[in-house]
Amino acid sequence: MTTLLTTELSELDKKHFIHPTSSIAQQQAEGPSHIFTEGKGVYLTDSNGHKVIDGMSSLWNVNIGHGVKEMAEAAYEQMSKLAFTSNFSTFSNEPAIRLAEKLSKILPGDLNAVFFTSGGSESNDTAFKLARHYWILKGQPERQKIISRKMSYHGVAMGATSATGLKPFRDFTNANAPHFHYVNSSVEEFRTLIEEEGPETIAAFITEIVQGAGGVNLPPEGYFKEIRKICDEYGILMIIDEVITGFGRTGKYFAIEHDAIQPDMLCFAKGVTSGYAQLGGVALNNRLHNDFKTLSKGTLLHGYTYSGHPVACNVALKNIEIIERDGLIENAEKMGEVLYKGLKYLEGKHEIVTNARGFGLLGGIDIVKDSQSGERFDEYVSPLIVKEAAKLGLILRTVTYDHDSIVFSPPLIINEAEVEQMINILDQAIVNIKGEVLKG
Ligand code: PLP
Repeated sequence: MTTLLTTELSELDKKHFIHPTSSIAQQQAEGPSHIFTEGKGVYLTDSNGHKVIDGMSSLWNVNIGHGVKEMAEAAYEQMSKLAFTSNFSTFSNEPAIRLAEKLSKILPGDLNAVFFTSGGSESNDTAFKLARHYWILKGQPERQKIISRKMSYHGVAMGATSATGLKPFRDFTNANAPHFHYVNSSVEEFRTLIEEEGPETIAAFITEIVQGAGGVNLPPEGYFKEIRKICDEYGILMIIDEVITGFGRTGKYFAIEHDAIQPDMLCFAKGVTSGYAQLGGVALNNRLHNDFKTLSKGTLLHGYTYSGHPVACNVALKNIEIIERDGLIENAEKMGEVLYKGLKYLEGKHEIVTNARGFGLLGGIDIVKDSQSGERFDEYVSPLIVKEAAKLGLILRTVTYDHDSIVFSPPLIINEAEVEQMINILDQAIVNIKGEVLKG
C-alpha cells in the first residue's frame, strides 16, 4: 500500500467515520494511528507496512489469533448454503442448534440452555431482562433491582451501561436505566446494600471474574464463594459476565471454574468466535430454564434479528474446535505464567512500575512516580508508554479511570518468544518515556 493511500484513507476516516469509544477531537487532530490491513497469528500489519504484536487480542477477543483460514472457510461454507434465516417463533437452524448443544457441554455445571445475541452488551441486557422477567413469572414482580461492582464494565447498551461500575460511562447521558446499584468488592458491603435496599426488591447481581476494562482487577480471595452464598441466602440470581474471560483466556474454559461455583446465568461474547463473526449469548442453568419452560405461557418478548445467526454460529463451532484441537486453554495457562514473570521483571527493574498482576493471559501493571511511596504522576503516563510501545511494535491499552494502568491480553496462541518480545518492547518503551517524565 502506498503512503498516499494511507493519507487519503486518513482524511476520509476523519470526515466520515465516528469511532467507538474514542476521542473525536483527537481523531480530527491526528487521524487514525493505524489503518490495519492484515493479520497473521499474534501480528497485525497496517497500511504503512508497519508490523506490530497485537498485545490485546485487538479488543480482548481474537483468542485464536489472526488470519486463520479455516474460520473463513466455515463462514464461506455456511454463507453459501444458507446465510441467514430467522430463529423467531418456531424457526431454527442447524449451526445454532449444534452450537447451543456444544456450549452446554463446555460451560461449567448445569448451564445447559443458551439465548444468542450479537455481542457482550446485548448479552448483559438480555440477562437483566430475563432476570427481571423471571421474577415476574415467579410472582415476585417487585424484584427488579440489579447490583453490580464498582470499576466493572458491562458494555454500552442501555442496560449494560447502567450496570457498568465505571462512572464516566454512566455519566455520558443524564438518563440511564433505573434500579441499578453499585458496590465495592466487599462481601460485607454487598450484604449491607441488600439489607438496606430490601432483599425482596433485588433481582440479580452481575460480576466479571476479573474486571477487564476497569484495569485487570483481580477479585479478593474467596470473594465469589461468599457472594454465591449470600445470593442463595436472599434468593438473588447470580450473573457472571465472562465476555472477556470466557473461552480460555484465564487458563480454564471459563474463569468461574477457578472458583468452582455455579452461576444462574453466564454471559459470553468475544472469544466465542475470536472476533471472526459477531456473536454473544446468555447461558441459563437448569433451574431457571425449567422455570421458564413451566411458567412462561405467552411469547418471550425478547429477541434480536441476529439471535442464533447461522454464519456466526458456524464460525463459533470452528473456533471452539480450534481452541480444543490446538490446546489453547493449556497454552493460555502456561504463557500466562511467562507473561506474569515478565511483568514482575519490569516491576523489579523500573521504579515507575508497580502492582504487576496476572490471571492466565490477562495482565496489568500500574505506573507511579515512585513505587516505594506509591506517589502518582500529576498527569497520566501510561498513554505515553503505550504510544511509544506502538511505535516500537506492540499494541497495548491503557486504563486511566482510576489508576494509571497498562493492560495485556494477547492471543491464546502466543508462544514464549513472542511474550518475551512483548516484554522487551515494553521495557524499551518504559526506558524511553521514563527519562522524559522523571525529568519533567
Ligand atoms: N462485558 C465485558 C466484561 C466486556 O469487557 C465487554 C466489552 O469489552 C462487554 C461486556 C461488552 O461487549 P460488547 O462490546 O461486545 O458489546
